[in-house]
Amino acid sequence: MPKKRARVLVEECLSLDINRLSRGGALTPGALGHHHRADSLTINGVQTVKLAWTACHYGGERPWFRCPGCNRRCAKLLDYLDQGFRCRQCYGAGYAVENDTPEWRLRRKAKKLERRLGQGFERPKGMHRATYQRLCDEIIDAEELADELFIEKVFRARPVRTRRPRPRAALELRLSGRQMIGSVEIGQIVL
Ligand SMILES: [Zn+2]
Repeated sequence: MPKKRARVLVEECLSLDINRLSRGGALTPGALGHHHRADSLTINGVQTVKLAWTACHYGGERPWFRCPGCNRRCAKLLDYLDQGFRCRQCYGAGYAVENDTPEWRLRRKAKKLERRLGQGFERPKGMHRATYQRLCDEIIDAEELADELFIEKVFRARPVRTRRPRPRAALELRLSGRQMIGSVEIGQIVL
């Protein structure tokens, strides 16, 4: 029997955020003009990640990574111990803080119960009034208890500790696109 692999924690991974890169102007370098969209990003000269663009509701376009593992669109990529950048699902990674506290367990429970109700907490067709009432009570109880735990936590005001400090690294990023002549060095970013 293979030993069960310990869960990878997001806090232990390097995390590359497309929105942070985009806000910093890294994906539309001025020298290329705005019509030149990058369609891939090379990290440290070894891993190339495809980019995808979708139309925004209010005009313009927003960039996404295509996960090299599953090809899904995602806004963040993680790297665990230099194994290469992948999405959170591919690494099966969870958040240490979120997983470990009773407050978050209660919030997830409330969310799960909420999904059984209609939009705006309406009683779904065919659900008994008693069942509906019990569900509403359970949701409110879970949320109130979670809020109490949150307030308690704020008053205790101890810094949140993760098992290990988030690793830091400097990455060399290079953009390429079909319309570009060659590729462009974004330069070094520190994660
Ligand atoms: Zn993936």
